[in-house]
Amino acid sequence: MKPLLIGSEIYRKSTYGPKHPLAIPRVSTALDLIQALGWVEPGGIIESPMASEAELSRFHTPDYIAALRAAEVEQAVPEAVRMRHHIGAHGNPVYHEIFSRPATSAGGVLLASRLTLDGGVVHVPGGGTHHGQRDRASGFCYVNDAVLGLLSWLDQGLTNVLYLDIDAHHGDGVQDAFHDDPRVFTLSIHEAARWPFTGGLEDRAGGHARNIPVPSGLNDTEMRWLLHHAVLPLIERLKPEAIMLQCGADALEEDPLAKLSLSNNAHWGVVRAVRDMAPRLIVLGGGGYNPWSVGRCWAGVWGVLNGFPAPERLPPPAEAVMRALVFNRAAGRNPPEHWFTTLRDAPREGPVRLEIRHLAEATLEGLPEPAPGMA
Ligand SMILES: [Zn+2]
Repeated sequence: MKPLLIGSEIYRKSTYGPKHPLAIPRVSTALDLIQALGWVEPGGIIESPMASEAELSRFHTPDYIAALRAAEVEQAVPEAVRMRHHIGAHGNPVYHEIFSRPATSAGGVLLASRLTLDGGVVHVPGGGTHHGQRDRASGFCYVNDAVLGLLSWLDQGLTNVLYLDIDAHHGDGVQDAFHDDPRVFTLSIHEAARWPFTGGLEDRAGGHARNIPVPSGLNDTEMRWLLHHAVLPLIERLKPEAIMLQCGADALEEDPLAKLSLSNNAHWGVVRAVRDMAPRLIVLGGGGYNPWSVGRCWAGVWGVLNGFPAPERLPPPAEAVMRALVFNRAAGRNPPEHWFTTLRDAPREGPVRLEIRHLAEATLEGLPEPAPGMA
């Protein structure tokens, strides 16, 4: 069965405001690149529906959903709403599509969960808002589309699901949502001592969570070590019926917010490795605040899911997509030529620090032993 791609035009012009890290086009860049590479047939991108208020209320409180809807209409929020729901506060601005964009992301992930019920692979680069809380916005996330998609899998009868998060930030909203539900196991690899400052090594939530807080400068070799000594063995032991992979691109070296040093080869390696580890896979986007890095990373994720090799040099239509980007941060003033002309970063290999080996070992503590005969 061929992988499916879900997108929406809502992301193209949508911005959190000129000074916000999410001023940049990300999903539209990735989708434009995918199309320019000829990696999807014309009309082959499935339009993401908007989740209904009833669907959103499977996780979020009705008064919070109503507040988001009102904020989109009014383009302002009363002080009480700011305080209570963190809308228009803490990095979560009131913006033009403040309800309809997150509702579209959620609708896309919900659709993905339905499309994979009998198996399959779906990529939803607009999803991955892993910080969203039940009754408030958090970390640029208003609705938690990952939680809603996981709940939808459970509501359809699945009982053993893995949520894997390789964003630079801890997937706190998802872990919290399933604290008391052992049907969902959460595994988050993220930069230590970075916002939201949760997800320490000892944090196992209800016992069905693991956290791998990595030191700054994490390189491709270290990520591969964690993949082979923690992530894949964990999957072999849990044998999940479905995997949801949050593929935040802010763990890449060129991201302006985090301090990890991965190349996009690291993300693609994770995607390739987990691709066939469960009968159902949904791959989400997530963070990522350099438009070239995000676009190249997520377009390449789709390539890996399909088995398309990354071209040595981008064909002219794809290069034109990259050259049209504008980025008003320091890194955008003098973008290196390879951001325009290549899809694949130069690998960023390096030594595997002792700390990384310890983190991998600790991750597997307390998990069921692998069945005899398994690698
Ligand atoms: Zn992030």
